[in-house]
Amino acid sequence: MIFTKVLEIYQKEHICLYCLGRLFSLLGTDTTNKRRGDALLLSLTMENHSEYLSGINEERINAIENLKILAECARYNSAQEVLKKEGIGFDIENEDVKCYLCKDIYSNLEMYVEKAKKKIEGFEFDTFLVGCSPSSSIVNREDRFKSMLNIIEAESFKSHFNREVGKLLSEEFDKPAEFTYPDITFIFSIGEEEFEINLLIRSIFIFGRYKKLIRGIPQTHWICYNCNGKGCNECDHTGKRYETSVEELINPKFIEASNATESKFHGAGREDIDVKMLGDGRPFVLELIEPNIRTLNLSRLKQSVNEINKDKIEISDLRYSTKKEVISMKEKAENTKKEYFALVRSEIGITIEDFQIKLQKLKDLLEEEKIDQRTPTRVSHRRADKIRNKRIYNISGKYRNQTEFEFKIETQGGTYIKELISGDNGRTSPSFSEIIGLPLKCESLDVLNIDY
Ligand SMILES: [Zn+2]
Ligand SMILES: [Zn+2]
Repeated sequence: MIFTKVLEIYQKEHICLYCLGRLFSLLGTDTTNKRRGDALLLSLTMENHSEYLSGINEERINAIENLKILAECARYNSAQEVLKKEGIGFDIENEDVKCYLCKDIYSNLEMYVEKAKKKIEGFEFDTFLVGCSPSSSIVNREDRFKSMLNIIEAESFKSHFNREVGKLLSEEFDKPAEFTYPDITFIFSIGEEEFEINLLIRSIFIFGRYKKLIRGIPQTHWICYNCNGKGCNECDHTGKRYETSVEELINPKFIEASNATESKFHGAGREDIDVKMLGDGRPFVLELIEPNIRTLNLSRLKQSVNEINKDKIEISDLRYSTKKEVISMKEKAENTKKEYFALVRSEIGITIEDFQIKLQKLKDLLEEEKIDQRTPTRVSHRRADKIRNKRIYNISGKYRNQTEFEFKIETQGGTYIKELISGDNGRTSPSFSEIIGLPLKCESLDVLNIDY
């Protein structure tokens, strides 16, 4: 059956040994498509040679016909030699005919490997993967051919290409192919005559913690609302609402060291612009996109970032991270404990004794209790209006003078502290103002600790 099919194939078109083996790829294991193709043609040649030598008339004629198909259409060397030896003439019409299915791409994979090597020059990587997208004309031609000949044991063009180029590159680079998280993915776009390579370069992720020692800078850069980042009079043609941000103070050194095209800053939550971030700092992951260099000297980076930004921000605890950690960090940020220091002002003065009584009341009513917090008015333009249920863990307070008090407040992540204090016109309840019975305002706020 297979032999008939092989002869049928070559009566229609010339295909290469790789493609022949590939069409029967599901048959016979632990070999390559090329060896499979060669084995088929060699067996066919031997079978017909034997028929020719020992068969009777009609069998001999048939055998000669088959050997001619193998010599002329398959261009199979061994069949050509048999015919020459037996003194039977044959005639190859077109010497340069290419494989009908792959246009000799598989016989010229070195070309693809060479170009891939050039493309990757200057990139540091440990693992890679090969992918390809053959043009629709290649895929459609092959589909038609297979259905015409009723071939169902074939391996796809793609899968053969990816594996064979992968093997060659693996030898060249002396690195394994990696299927789940390759540093580099080569994507070959393959046409009939030409091809192109695109690289997918996996980001690198660096975990760290930052302290924000000054007020007035946001965590990440804010695009100017007016011009959407293009630059206008309102933003002094910077395209930004704030001159700088924690992100912009940290990322240039990393982008430079890794030669990345850009970066993304993922924080474990964020503090308001006017809030300091103290204590051990807030966890963040810096994602470096399309880096050339993947091995960074993190302690040197930390040092240089901290030197440049002395008294503004400080980073620590740098280590390599993953995309997975970015996701889990964002999920966790909602629930981790956070500790704040708030300086609070009252419009009406009270005595220290009165303060102590009210502080006790605060502790009694709020500690280990939950509050209802509707999205604050000040952020309602960019956050969905909903009620959040947040837990308060611990409150301690200190009397500064009649109208100024200090509080340390430990709460669940995502609690709006300024509103917890002021009450936000009843949108947060219960609140410090409500319980103490005085209109209170949070003058300044620092984050002291974030559990991570
Ligand atoms: Zn081929
Ligand atoms: Zn603008």
